[in-house]
Parts: sequence; structure tokens; C-alpha cells
Amino acid sequence: MAAAYLDKLNDQQRAAVVFGLDGPALPPPLLVIAGAGSGKTSMLAHRVAHLLVKGADPRRILLMTFSRRAASELTERVARITRQAMGTPVAAEALTWTGTFHAVGARILREHALSIGLHPDFSIHDREDSADLMNLSRHGLGLSKTESRFPTKGTCLAIYSRAVNSEEPLAVVLRAHFPWCAGWEAQLKQLFGAYVTAKQAQNVLDYDDLLLAWAQVMADPGFAAHLGAAWDHVLIDEYQDTNRLQARILLALKPDGRGLTVVGDDAQSIYAFRAADVRNILDFPASFAPRADVVTLERNYRSTQPILAAANAVIAGAAERYTKDLWSDRASAAKPRLVTVATEALQARYMVDRILEDREAGMRLKDQAVLFRTSSHAVQIEVELTRRNVPYVKFGGLKFLDSAHVKDLLSILRLARNPRDRVAGFRVLQLIPGIGPRAAGRILDALDLAADPRAAWEQITPPPKASADWPGFAAAMTTDAPWPAALGLARAWYDPHLDRLHEDAESRRADLLQLEQIAAGHPSAEAFLTELTLDPPDATSDQAGAPLKDEDYLILSTIHSAKGQEWRSVHILNAVDGCIPSDLGTGTTRDLEEERRLLYVAMTRAKDHLTLGLPLRFYVSQQTRNGDRHVYAMRTRFIPGSILDRFETLNWSPAVQADAVRPAPAPIDVAARMRSMWR
Ligand code: ATP
Ligand code: MG
Repeated sequence: MAAAYLDKLNDQQRAAVVFGLDGPALPPPLLVIAGAGSGKTSMLAHRVAHLLVKGADPRRILLMTFSRRAASELTERVARITRQAMGTPVAAEALTWTGTFHAVGARILREHALSIGLHPDFSIHDREDSADLMNLSRHGLGLSKTESRFPTKGTCLAIYSRAVNSEEPLAVVLRAHFPWCAGWEAQLKQLFGAYVTAKQAQNVLDYDDLLLAWAQVMADPGFAAHLGAAWDHVLIDEYQDTNRLQARILLALKPDGRGLTVVGDDAQSIYAFRAADVRNILDFPASFAPRADVVTLERNYRSTQPILAAANAVIAGAAERYTKDLWSDRASAAKPRLVTVATEALQARYMVDRILEDREAGMRLKDQAVLFRTSSHAVQIEVELTRRNVPYVKFGGLKFLDSAHVKDLLSILRLARNPRDRVAGFRVLQLIPGIGPRAAGRILDALDLAADPRAAWEQITPPPKASADWPGFAAAMTTDAPWPAALGLARAWYDPHLDRLHEDAESRRADLLQLEQIAAGHPSAEAFLTELTLDPPDATSDQAGAPLKDEDYLILSTIHSAKGQEWRSVHILNAVDGCIPSDLGTGTTRDLEEERRLLYVAMTRAKDHLTLGLPLRFYVSQQTRNGDRHVYAMRTRFIPGSILDRFETLNWSPAVQADAVRPAPAPIDVAARMRSMWR
């Protein structure tokens, strides 16, 4: 076979692309495991394209990866290759089963809801909703009042989530990852029981349930066989970051492994805190008899040789690693830069200076990225970018969806679909003047008892102060307007409240109009709510939240969200101990190893230029244990003196700049100081 699209691949990639596809039978299981930038995702796109060129039915291919963005990039790539190969492209939309495990799970659970004991109108709670429901359950048991040192709702949810996704007993999870909560085991068990009961009574599923319920129905051999027969080929990228539930789902879908292709890099496993288990990828070959074939790739096409050499040196310190070092023939004289600055504000100054210089020199902003550990570390850089009018989009941080007004409107929609959703109910009812938490609780109880809760809205007697607003609200809750007109009605009801609730009502109004436009592209309220909850749009620097479609903009991203991506120039914030590695973990070797891999993932995103910032004074904001504080930082331990020669090291301060401007005074965080008075 002399297909031109295979010519560009190296021998190993080509072998993986065509593996097992010469005959009519489904191919045996295949694992492709190799380091960063070695063309794993490219290989996967080519394999799918190759299947299509050979006449496979696109609807019988299931393609899963870790984010919707990654999934749509993959399908577009497949479409490009097929267009080139066949003249007529197989439209990316023809691949109807692509997305994240969670999104595919949600779709399957909804499609099969009636036969597996779920209500097809279930709502999906995002993490914030889930934490709120956890809180309600906690109050219900009196756990927060009597026990003031009881773990916060967020910690409770993290413990619950970890136990569910790792399939480990609560005691084990507590001991290994939340030792400071171990004394609360009995209460937590009781709380989680109440939380699950509440979810079921309210007809909601949380993120974890999308996997848990899916895995549980897969334990039924009849169901598993039925679902497994729906797809000939199941292909998965970034397999190192799947958890036990996901592995179980996969093995139940394809027990003999035929048609299964998984791809990943154990050195990039960075989701252990969400119970991802690197053993999934390492144990994959032995899960089948005969063992699955393994292909490894050795050449890195992404990064210049000096960048790769530095990244290799960082990961070489890892205790355990399966994938081998890669080589690159992209010569360059430029080593990665390690820049020491006095403060985070100066780090931001330095980086924005370089970014703008590079833009002057012709590198688009879109080819550059700033990566950081958690969203809160980006504050200084966001301030600097805003001050200097540089547009940016932020991935993995605060989402469009997290803003109060967007959440309000979506909750109105959710409550109208599912009146038993108490988290949405509490939020929406309290928008009505005259209704507080107590009255909201009473109204929701009444709905709960009603045989037909949707019909009950009109019979409810609201508190006297709310009686004028009630009929309009009840009408919005009971409308049978078709989609997406229903959203328009919800917005019309909410609109006057905006002026009462927010000073910047106008820009929020613009957001909601934008939301309505997004909604119009979805076939149903369920599809819209599911997609938005599972994969919300990213935050932009534009106040009105309008999408920055054709403009040039800089990418700001958490390292976790940058997985699989690449930019010509990458800036990494805070390469200091206390940030990478974070001092939030339990400090076990296992946690530390994950932090090392995080730095490796960040560094290997760069193609041509890599800069690491090392602020000597570093602000740690912590909600748990130690409180907010400044620390005097040191270079991350993952870049020890012995490998410093792989970097170009420099000290920077604005004073040594030719066009020096007076440095801004060190920022004072009054809010944090005021909070810390009460700690
Ligand atoms: P990661 O581990 O970060 O997910 P990856 O192994 O999936 O990386 P890709 O993203 O597929 O790697 O590829 C990295 C870069 O190398 C991309 O720009 C891709 O286009 C390029 N590339 C991949 N294979 C080849 C090849 N055979 N020839 C030239 N360029 C290639
Ligand atoms: Mg990849």
C-alpha cells in the first residue's frame, strides 16, 4: 500500500498506524507508549484516517481523549488527512463518537436511562454544584455545626471523588492522601451515604457518577456486550491519565482487546490527584491473552535539541520510568532560559516584555503560551497583560460558567427541566426578593412531595413579600416553549434581576446573549447543559466575554490543561520549590514524582523557545492548613546544580534595562491581610 499520507510518518509510526488492519478481522489490542512530542497523537489521527480510507464506518469508531478541545483537534486532523487521501474528506462530524470519557458516559447514560433505572432528564452537577450539595448534606447531618474542624465541603468532595475513582476503601484513601482527615472516617462515611441519597432523590449525577454509573452498568455482561458491539474500533489518547473506573469500562467494552488502541506516556502522568493510575498503561499489555503488542517511538519532532536535553535531564531524576529518552535533530544554539527575578510582579514584567518583543519580531501571540501550576498563580501576569493591552485566553482556570450570572441562568434552565435539583433550586429561588434560604427550603420540600413537581409550581404559596413576582416565575418554570426559545424565556425572567444584583449589569447582559447564541447551536436543552457543564468555554481577557475569534491572542494555561499541546515559545511561571513541587501535597515520594512529571510536561510543550521564571519572593495562597503567606523561594529541586548547565541562567531586574522604568512598589494584598486577622 503506497498511500501518500503515510509517507510522512517514520517507520515506527507507520507500523502503529497500519497495525492489524490488512485483513477483514478486527486488529488485536495495541499499545503505543512513548515520550513527549514523539508523534503519538499524530499517529492516532493517521490510524483513524487510515481506517476511514479503508472504508470503516465512522459511526462505529469511538475516539476518546482528555478534553473536548483535544478531541476536536484530533477529528479536524483526521478530516484533513482524509481530504488529502481521498479528495472527498470524511467530515469530522461523521465521527459521531468522539469526546472525553465523561461526555461519552453522559451520552450513553442518557440514551439508556430508562433501561438502567435513571431518569433521562437527570441534571449534571459541576464541581461547584457538587460541593454545594455536599454542604447541604453536611448541614443535614449537623456535621458542620457541632464539629467546627470538620473538613470543608471542598475537601469532603475531593475525598469522596478520590475514593470513587480509585475504587479504594475510604480508610485507605484517607490514610494515603488526606491523613489530617483520618479521624473523621465514620462521619465521612455517613456523609457520603447522605450525599448519594440526596443525588438520587434530586435526580442529579455528578462528574464522578458519569464514570461510576457507566462502569456499574458495564458489569452486566448483557449490557456490556450490547454496548461493545456498537463500535468496531475504540481508540484512546493520553491513556496514562485514566483511572481504574475508565480502565474497567474499556476492558468491559472490548474484553478480548480486538479493535482497541491506546496511546500514552507514563512520564506524563499528572492526574493522580484525580485518582489516575499509571498502572493502567503499564498493565495494559498483560490484560490480554496473548499479550497486547507494544510500539514505542524514539524521535521527538517537536522541540529543539537543547530544550529536549533539559527536559530529559529533569525527568532522568525520576524514580521509575518506562518510556525512554527521545532524540531530536532540530539543532539550535538557544538553551532554555532560567530567569531569576525578585518578585512575581517582575517575573510578569519580564515575560510580557519578551512576549511583546517576539511579537514585534513576527511571532504571533497565538504561538506563545504562559503556563502555571494553578490558576491563582496567573494573577500577576493577567494584571500585566491587561495593563499593556495584550489580549489573552485562559485555559483551565476560572470559567465563563463560574460567573454568577451565567450560573444563575443555567440554574433556572436546570430547575425548569428538573424541579428536584435542590442546588439549582436554592440558587434560583433566592433570586426572588422575599425568598431566603428557609423559604426556599420549604418550597423545595413541597415540590419534592408533589406527585408531579412541574405542575406543583403554580399551586405553591410563596412568602407574602414574594407573591407579586411568583406568577411570572411559575410561568417561566412551567413553560413548554420549544428549545432554544425556552432559554430566551428564562433570560427574559432573569433580566430585571441583573440590574438589582450587579453594578456591571450591561456586560453581564452581553454574556447572557452570547450564551443564547451558543445554545442555538445545540439540538436540546440536555445537550446544551451537558456540554457546558462538562466542558465550559474558556475565560477571555475581553470583559464582555465575546469570543476572540480571528484575533491574535496569548494563551494562558494551567500545565494540566496544556497536556498534548505545543507552542513555539513557552514561559513557565514559578519554577520554585513550594510551587513545583507544591508544598500542598502530603510530601510522599509518590506525590513528589508526580510534581517532577508536571515540570516535564510543561517543558516539553515548547518547540523553539523555553523560559522558566524563578521569583525569589513567591506568594503562596493556601486555603488549607498554613494560610496565605510570602515565602522566600529557591530554584525547584528538579533542576539541581548538576543539570544547571542545560540552561542559560540570568538575573533580571528592570534597573539593568536600557529603557528602565521605575519599578512598581511591591503589591500589598490588603484583602489577604484582613482575612489573615481571623485565622
Ligand atoms: P505529547 O506527548 O505531548 O502528547 P505526542 O507524542 O502526541 O506529544 P504529537 O503532538 O503527535 O506528539 O507530535 C508532536 C509534533 O511533531 C507535532 O507538531 C507533529 O505535527 C510533529 N510530528 C509528528 N510526527 C511527525 C513526523 N513523522 N514528521 C514530522 N513531524 C511530525
Ligand atoms: Mg499527544
